[in-house]
Amino acid sequence: MSARNILVINCGSSSMKFALVNEEQATFPLQGLAERLGSPEAVLHWQLGDNKQSLEIPGADHHAALQHVLPMAQDASGGHLSAIGHRVVHGGEHFTGSCLINEEVLNAIRDNAQLAPLHNPANLVGINATLDLFPDLPQVAVFDTAFHQTMPEYAYRYAVPEFLYKEHSVRRYGFHGTSHNYVSKRAAEMTGLPVEDSCWLTAHLGNGCSTCAIVNGESRDTSMGMTPLEGLVMGTRSGDVDPNLHSYLNRTLGWSLEQIDRALNHDSGIKGLSGLSNDMRTLSEARMAGHPGANLAFEVFCYRLAKSLAAMACALPKLDGLIFTGGIGENSAPVRERTLEHLKLFNFKLDKAANERCTRGVAGEIQAEGSPRVLVVPTNEERQIALESLELLDA
Ligand code: AMP
Repeated sequence: MSARNILVINCGSSSMKFALVNEEQATFPLQGLAERLGSPEAVLHWQLGDNKQSLEIPGADHHAALQHVLPMAQDASGGHLSAIGHRVVHGGEHFTGSCLINEEVLNAIRDNAQLAPLHNPANLVGINATLDLFPDLPQVAVFDTAFHQTMPEYAYRYAVPEFLYKEHSVRRYGFHGTSHNYVSKRAAEMTGLPVEDSCWLTAHLGNGCSTCAIVNGESRDTSMGMTPLEGLVMGTRSGDVDPNLHSYLNRTLGWSLEQIDRALNHDSGIKGLSGLSNDMRTLSEARMAGHPGANLAFEVFCYRLAKSLAAMACALPKLDGLIFTGGIGENSAPVRERTLEHLKLFNFKLDKAANERCTRGVAGEIQAEGSPRVLVVPTNEERQIALESLELLDA
């Protein structure tokens, strides 16, 4: 049988990322991004092999963008696509793994939309468009939350009245599951440890950030909660704040819930702390130039990350390694170094040269002699979605 090709699609409210994954090739034959969808500035960027191109598609929506992408994907796969894998943000308690999309699955994703009002509807738009354009191709939904459905109840329940959980689904779900799952399996491969007998702390640090405790291939706890706002300091998200902040801001500033949501989700995090940018690269440069806000944002980011990792360690019977991933985790040697300085009790020691070496896609171990393992592992959510799609096709 020739190597199979999966088209992986990740729809946001006005954007769509895509990648063609070939099961035997390390790089993607085709990948791209459609952005500003639904506006006159809609544009499609793609890379076919080494060749980068863009096309203005004024007014195009997700469906129209996919009409451009699907023939390209067919061509790039030599006329044979095996399946389409969709990233879906919220699977609620219904989905404990990936699944082939049918009417029942579509309804369940729709039912979970109230838990992710910005994301699930956009994911559904993408799924409906590909079902329409490719009705005969198997389509798979891979959920950000599903990997965390193995958390024990004492880790996923909030201490709030029971009916809020039983009748209104108020509990911790966790996100970034595809990434935590992928990097922990890669770390097991890199170190020669069996997945089913290895324990990891993972830190996915991108625009969104979360930590996870993984025991024998299963998530036991994670820092994000009912929504992706809980936990770490992120690019524009506050992470944990005192829940009474809402009533305080309402009383003192007269802010509505929408204004508070906006402030905590879009104007906070390292952007809010620095007053400068949500981008860790910009902050790193500004910090070197002596910008106090950038320095504070960096310090708070690293300290809160270390605190979260120490808390996650409660879920582990042993520690085989700490894994950094995501744009910041894979590239920022200073963030890794500062975070480990706060975790002295774990006896982490860094090999500074190895830490500097592991950037821009370079994976490796960065601990010094006598320290527990610390790994940098580039994440690859597209490949993980493709792998899970292939598993379902084979089943
Ligand atoms: P992601 O969401 O995984 O693409 O990650 C985006 C984040 O990674 C942004 O905050 C970027 O500034 C950050 N990032 C990418 N490259 C670097 C770098 N060399 N140093 C620090 N942060 C970086």
